[in-house]
Amino acid sequence: MTGQRSYKEKPYKSRRAMLDRALSLYGWACSICGGPIADGDESLQHMKPRSKGGTDDEENLRPAHKRCNSSLGDREIDPRLIVYGGERMLIDFANKNR
Ligand SMILES: [Zn+2]
Repeated sequence: MTGQRSYKEKPYKSRRAMLDRALSLYGWACSICGGPIADGDESLQHMKPRSKGGTDDEENLRPAHKRCNSSLGDREIDPRLIVYGGERMLIDFANKNR
């Protein structure tokens, strides 16, 4: 298998595109603290860290504050937890296509 480059090896443009995608899906709300994210303070959070087998799939990616993202480090967030409109919501991705 070749050609599957990891998140960190992707050029900035792709990382930005992934972040923009997460922002458009989940809004400008931090997936860690739930607070609103100011323009320029957005970062891309892996719900399951790549070091623990997390993927770059959009279901594993959430917007988060840069500060929250770095303080979370390698800890894992329940991937079903998302913040929407400032409130935490539990989304069952397994059932999303029903
Ligand atoms: Zn935050």
